[in-house]
This record gives sequence, structure tokens and C-alpha cells, in this order.
Amino acid sequence: MAQAIQNIIIVGGGTAGWLTAGILAAEHNADNGKLSPSPKLNITLIESPDVPTIGVGEGTWPSMRTTLKNIGISETEFLLSCDASFKQGSRFINWTHAQKANGNSAEHYLHPFSLPIGTNELDLCPHWLAHREQVSFADAVGQQNQLSQLSLAPKQITTGEYQFQNNYGYHLNAGKFSQLLQQHCTEKLGVTHIQDHVTAIHKNDSGDISHLSTKQSGELSADFFVDCTGVKSLILGEQLNVPFICQKSVLFNDSALAVQVPYPSADTEIASCTHSTAQSNGWIWDIGLPTRRGVGHVYSSSHTDQAQAEQQLVEYLKPTVNIDVDNLEIRKLSIAPGHRQVCWKNNCMAVGMASGFIEPLEASALALVEWSANTLAQQLPANRQVMDIVSARVNKRFNQHWQQIIEFLKLHYVLSKRSDSDYWHDHRESCSIPESLQQQLKLWRTQAPSKHDIQHTDALFPAASFQFVLYGMGFQTLLPSQLKPSLQNRAQQLFTENIKRTQGLQQLLPTNRELLAKIAQYGLPKI
Ligand SMILES: Cc1cc2nc3c(=O)[nH]c(=O)nc-3n(C[C@H](O)[C@H](O)[C@H](O)COP(=O)(O)OP(=O)(O)OC[C@H]3O[C@@H](n4cnc5c(N)ncnc54)[C@H](O)[C@@H]3O)c2cc1C
Repeated sequence: MAQAIQNIIIVGGGTAGWLTAGILAAEHNADNGKLSPSPKLNITLIESPDVPTIGVGEGTWPSMRTTLKNIGISETEFLLSCDASFKQGSRFINWTHAQKANGNSAEHYLHPFSLPIGTNELDLCPHWLAHREQVSFADAVGQQNQLSQLSLAPKQITTGEYQFQNNYGYHLNAGKFSQLLQQHCTEKLGVTHIQDHVTAIHKNDSGDISHLSTKQSGELSADFFVDCTGVKSLILGEQLNVPFICQKSVLFNDSALAVQVPYPSADTEIASCTHSTAQSNGWIWDIGLPTRRGVGHVYSSSHTDQAQAEQQLVEYLKPTVNIDVDNLEIRKLSIAPGHRQVCWKNNCMAVGMASGFIEPLEASALALVEWSANTLAQQLPANRQVMDIVSARVNKRFNQHWQQIIEFLKLHYVLSKRSDSDYWHDHRESCSIPESLQQQLKLWRTQAPSKHDIQHTDALFPAASFQFVLYGMGFQTLLPSQLKPSLQNRAQQLFTENIKRTQGLQQLLPTNRELLAKIAQYGLPKI
């Protein structure tokens, strides 16, 4: 009999490491967040006290609600201990055109988390096309564009934990999130935590990882290893030599400047979505937590330098903070845009930055961590003999996800009409646009994106995401030659229902700050 997979070592204690530990333990060892009497997996997480976590990554997708619920963390506890707030999507500002110097108000559109109204019944997009001069796509099919401009929350104090009126993810303090996950995994889910530095990684004759050497804890062996060592990719990259596929020729951003700023006053509204404001050589993210904002400039070092990027960040901050912005503590981060050729080789899977990272434009990194950890937890092979069958199909899906992420991010740049720098021109050069995206854009001139354009069932971005970005940026698609009258009638009903819902929710929903204050006082109802 082949030996069962019973002992797993996760190397790395950033968000990726702790989320993987929690998801694996909840799937195999826990029931409703409580440790079962006889755990099936021994899970050990080792993290180096000498290597800090990356410490950014403050925007999540709605999938994080399911993850936290499955791990057994109360939403009230999570919101309060991680300085978290509600995120209902990303608002893209000045992406189509640069803001004119004469003070014209900024152009913006929302990529919301809620799917268009009636999605399971009817694709409203072809029906909206005839009304595109009167109403934006986001306003025609959903409520979040208007509600988020009023900084309204996606739910009420009477709405149960993880339930919602409008779909949402979170803005959170990344350091506090890792701490909460660590505490929960070790105290409730039976994960063993070792704080030590891995000094060497050893393979056996078959090429599998056999054990790790550490500074103080001796040698540690396991049946399976998860590489969550961040950009170092110590096991998958360095030890197993899986090549890195650089994507800088498609997505140029390779640098970021990050800063934290206070609100001007304690009652300043907390934004309901991430603001992404295009700049001449990159873009600035702006994330509102209850206690502060996290702001950063992502840019291409081939097109601008740090001093100019810093200057633009300071100019961006000046109108909205009442502190001395010239003396802020700004952190510089380098990004190597790309991913490993595979995420799983032999008896090791890489999760998080160790498997790849491309700029945080749609905050997809943690969503991919969740996908990776869930995939491992749900498809964990019983023994080494069948492992390569599972890893082959996981690697295929991993590459499909990266292809979609790359093309979806690139779409934001390709559709821009900005001409204020080489950066934007270069983004539209056909040599930098993946062939399949070029094909899709050609097709979308004649028909709106639909579910038929999405190649696999668990794709990260549904057709609606492409619709929100394309039409948010003014893309022109031919009007459909004919639509069934019965469907047109139903579409009209849905458009009308959406207007009513938007008006109703405007009356009903508290602001983010009001809701978070009530949660601190009463907590959300448990479900
Ligand atoms: C500018 C920027 C903005 C971002 N914004 C977002 C966002 O909004 N949303 C989002 O989803 N993601 C975002 N990300 C990505 C996100 O930050 C990461 O995906 C996430 O933090 C997970 O990181 P990690 O755990 O893989 O790596 P890290 O946080 O780097 O953790 C690596 C771990 O490995 C350990 N380690 C390293 N070497 C050793 C060793 N020899 N022995 C033992 N342990 C070792 C370290 O101690 C550490 O614990 C952003 C990234 C950047 C750069």
C-alpha cells in the first residue's frame, strides 16, 4: 500500500500561508470551525522571524466571505480585529481619458461585485446596448455604482453575518489579518506553528522534497510541502527549478510606492469601493479602512522614475489629507510581473506570491490564493502514487487562470484613449497585446461579451466583468440585429426593477461608517 498523505508542512506565514493552513485544516480536520477529535492531517506552518511578510494586500473579493465562514471565523470578530470595511467593487477614474487641466470633472466607472440583475435568467447586455446613450451599463443593470458613490454599506445591522443586500468583499489591514488567521488556525484548527528560518531544502532520489533544515528546530520532514515563501519561491522556484514566466512585455508595472494616511476627521466617510486613478505612467490605488486610508502608486520603471512617481502620489494626496504630505513615510516595493510555469511539481504546491504576482489592478492575488488552497484541500491526493494525475489537472487550470487574469488586466489599458505618455501608447501596441485578447476585441465589436467567451467553468472573471469594463470605458459594439420581443419585454421589466431597487436601497442602507459603528456596539446576527 502506498503511504497516505498525512503530514503537510507549509513554509511561509504571510496571508497565503495562513489562509492555506486554515482552508486545509477546515476541510480535513474541522467541523464548523471546531477541531475534530482525530485530525486526519498534521499541518505545520513554519515562518521565518528574519523575513518579513510583504505587508500589503488590503483588498479582497467576495470569495473571502465564504473562506472566512468555512474556516469558522465570526464576521463580527474579523471586521473588528482586522480594521476591515466593505468593498463593493473597483472604481476606475480617468482611465479612458486623462483629466483636462481646465478642471473638468473626472471620468469614472465601477466594476461592481454584484452580477447584473436577472443574470441567471437573461443576459441584459445586448438589451442595454440600445439605451447606451441614456444610461451607463453599470446603472442600468445594478445598484452598486450609485450606492457606492454615497459610501453606503452593502447590508444592514439586521443582516446576518456574511449575508448581504449587495455582494461585497473587504478592505482590511493585511498585518492584522495574518495575526487573526494565525490565532484561529493554532487555537481552533490544530495547526502547529514554528517560528524558525528554513536554511536548506532537501530532495530524495525521485526528486521529491524529503525534508527541510532549519536554524533551531532541526530537520523537518513531511509527505507534502506548500511553498508560501513569497517572491523568493524557495521550494518551487529555487529548489525544484520551475521556470518563471515574465509578463512585463504585456503588463509593464514593476514598482509600487505605498503609504498610509489618516482621515481629515473621525467622521469622514469610508469609501465603498477601491478607487483606482490612472496616472501618466501607472495608477494609484486608494483603499478606505475604518481607521485610515491605504494609498499606493503602481508604475512602470521603464517609463518613469521613483522621484516622479512619488511626486504624483503626493499631488494625489494633497487635496484629501490635512497633514504634511511631503514628509510621509513612503514604502517602495518591486514587482516582478509574472508567474511560475506550473504551481505544483512533485510533492510541492506553491500558493500566493511564490506562484506568481502581477500588479494589483483587480486585487485578484488573494482570490487566487483562495482558489489554490481550496483546490489543494478538495483534491488532496490520498497518496504519492496518484499525485501526478491531480497535479497535471491543477496546473492546467492554474495556467488558464493566469491567462485570463493577464488578458483581463490588459483590457483596462488597451481600451484607454489616453495619449499623455508613451506608457499608454505602448500599452496599445499590438505586439504587447495577447493574440487571444486581440481576437476577442474583434469579436466584441460585433457582439457583446457573453458566457460563450469564458473558456472554463470556475473562471475568476465572468462575462459580466468584461461587460462592465468594456462599456465603462466607452467600447462600441454593433447593436444586435434582432432580439426576441418576449425577451425585450422581460429586459425592460428588469431595468425598471433595478431602478426601484436602487431607490429602495438608498433609503434603507446605512453608510459604511454608521454600520461599522453599530457592529462594534451590537455585532452582526450569527447565522
Ligand atoms: C503593491 C502591492 C499591492 C497589493 N495589493 C493587493 C490587493 O489589494 N489584493 C490582493 O488580493 N493582493 C494584493 N497584493 C498581493 C498580496 O499582498 C499577496 O498576495 C499576499 O500578501 C500574500 O503574500 P504571501 O503570503 O504569498 O507572501 P509574503 O507576505 O511575502 O510571505 C512570505 C512568508 O515566507 C516566509 N519565508 C520566507 N523565507 C523563509 C525561510 N527561509 N524560512 C521560513 N520562512 C520563510 C516569510 O517569513 C513570510 O512569512 C498586493 C501586492 C503588492 C506588491
